[in-house]
Amino acid sequence: MLRLLDPLVSLVFPEFCHVCGELVEGTSDGVACRACWERVRFLTVDSPLCGKCGRFLLDGRPGAVARCGQCNDHFYDQARSAGLYEFALSATVLNLKNVPWVPSTAAKALERAIPLLPVGPDHIVMPVPLSKKRLAERGFDQAAVLARLVSRTARLPLDEFSLIRVRDTQMHRTAMDRKAREASVKGAFAVTRPALIKDRHVLLVDDVMTTGASASHCAFSLKKNGAASVNVLTLARAVG
Ligand SMILES: [Zn+2]
Ligand SMILES: [Zn+2]
Repeated sequence: MLRLLDPLVSLVFPEFCHVCGELVEGTSDGVACRACWERVRFLTVDSPLCGKCGRFLLDGRPGAVARCGQCNDHFYDQARSAGLYEFALSATVLNLKNVPWVPSTAAKALERAIPLLPVGPDHIVMPVPLSKKRLAERGFDQAAVLARLVSRTARLPLDEFSLIRVRDTQMHRTAMDRKAREASVKGAFAVTRPALIKDRHVLLVDDVMTTGASASHCAFSLKKNGAASVNVLTLARAVG
């Protein structure tokens, strides 16, 4: 597939839906067509989610408070996502790894998800960091692109530099089971400026949450350095 790396160039060229191949009308829907956006399950206060990690509970009852049982030992307080990792939203997350641009349909969905978390004016926004090596390869951090958006929308200060990834995790993390993922990110994050973290409430932002292991280990580092709370917001949430 021809990939236009310059978002300005791709704005003027017609885009074909990365999900179904139909022509995408207008730029606000990004790389997916309207029909594929309408198939995405966006998450709301009424969605059947794990109260802590925000996992979509396939057999859950809407609005019921439930726990998935797999996030008890995670170090963040709560995690929520704009929608499930499917159709237009998964295509958008994948494209965001190549092009640092969030189409307005995705930006609005992320904005709507902020109030799903107990976020107040005393929070600071931080992205889940990429390793230096990965950042050099890619040229940008997709989580930072989303964190800047959240910071601007919610009018909260942004700190992109106090939390760093000190160790690269393996590339093929999707093939790992939960235990292997947990082990691969343990000790992968560190806080460089603890004075800026102490007693602060952190809103951690990432593109997609799968097992929650990365978010949990970020939260572990932040809390070890005195963060009062860590909540996690992601654009998408893996199903299952
Ligand atoms: Zn489509
Ligand atoms: Zn859970």
